[in-house]
Parts: sequence; C-alpha cells; structure tokens
Amino acid sequence: MKILMLLGAQGSGKGTQSARLAQEFGLVPCASGDLLREAMTLGTPLGVRARPYYDSGELVPDDLIIGMILERLNSLSGANGIILDGFPRNRAQAEALDVALRQMGQKIEGVIYLDVPRALLVERISGRLICRAQGHVYNINSNPPRVPGICDIDQSALYQRKDDIGDALEHKLDIFFAETLPLTKYYDDQGKLIKVDGTQSIEEVNHNILVKLKAASQ
Ligand code: AMP
Repeated sequence: MKILMLLGAQGSGKGTQSARLAQEFGLVPCASGDLLREAMTLGTPLGVRARPYYDSGELVPDDLIIGMILERLNSLSGANGIILDGFPRNRAQAEALDVALRQMGQKIEGVIYLDVPRALLVERISGRLICRAQGHVYNINSNPPRVPGICDIDQSALYQRKDDIGDALEHKLDIFFAETLPLTKYYDDQGKLIKVDGTQSIEEVNHNILVKLKAASQ
C-alpha cells in the first residue's frame, strides 16, 4: 500500500493538494478534520467528545484521534494506498502511527511539507468559505463564488468555520508551530521529508510535489 502524508498548517493548501494527489495516484484521502466533522454531524460518541476541542481550535485528545485514524487505516487495508492529511499533528500521534504501520507491515513513502509563512496563512484562512451541503471550499480573495454566499456547485449556503475566525484561528496556528512543525525534523531524520514552497499557485505546488516525489523515489 502506498502511503503519503501531507504536513502543513491550516491554510497551507493541504486539502487541495491531497485531493489532487489522491486522484493522480489513485489513493484514498484520509483527512482527520473531515473524519471529525463527519462524526460531529452524525452525533457519534466520538463526535460529541471532540466538538468542544474542535470549536475552540484545540487539538482533540490523542487517544480519540489515534483510535479514529487507526480504525480508518484498518478498514482500508485492501486499498491501493492512502494519503494522510491533518494527522499526525504531534510527536505522540506520529509515534503511534509508526508503531501501527510497523504492525501492519506498512511504511510511509513520503511526507510532503507545505511551507507557508504565518501572515499568508492568516490571510488565506480568514477568507475561507465552506459550503453547507458538501464542504466545497472557496476563498473571498483568491477563489470567490460566482454569487456571494452561495456554492457554485450545489447552490447551498456558504459559511465560515467557527475555528477559522479570531482567537481560535490564532490558537490553531500557535499549536501548529509549537507541536506539528517539529514533525518535519522527525520525518527528516527518517529520510522521508519533502519540503515544498506552499506560497505558489495550486498548479505550481502540485507540479513541485510530483517532481520531488519522483526524485525521492529514484
Ligand atoms: P482541520 O480540518 O485539519 O483544520 O482540523 C480541524 C480541527 O480538528 C482541529 O483544529 C482540531 O481541533 C481537530 N483535529 C484534526 N486533526 C487532528 C489531529 N490529528 N489531532 C488533534 N486534533 C485534530
């Protein structure tokens, strides 16, 4: 099974690049934030426990999130491959993942880090709009909907995520730089890190990822 990982702050373009890579390599996208939103919408016990952390921009406790991801990984054992997006976010999660993959006889092929300065992350996230029906993503500045407040694809209303505004946003970024960014060293030490400039256009970032992945596999 091919396993890729995208590492980057909120607003680094992880979700967009993950969707592209999933298509290009036939991988199943595995985004921890999406799995949590699904659990919260369904009102599962995990969703109920996760919501207060989610709404305030805190990390959901490791035991909850690790359990959720490992369950997902096990359910995908027949798949061609997966792309992890948003997990792991700290050292404990990364180590738990390594242990689980070792037990499954699998390993991560490459960890793509999308490097974007904090000021640009704030600009991107605070302009983000999401569609109620299916989660299509827009940006007031760089990718506005044709009709303000309405999704181009399914005409549902657009909203701003609670954790994309004000203190919750700044807090999420603080957590990223303090807890998640050190994982770049963790994976660099394993010879898996592929660092890409995330400030460029979606096309350029995608191109650079593909070139660097190819170079890394040779
Ligand atoms: P995202 O959609 O990736 O921005 O994640 C939204 C929120 O979900 C985060 O702010 C956290 O509250 C929670 N979350 C997602 N992934 C994780 C993770 N790996 N560990 C802890 N919390 C997470």
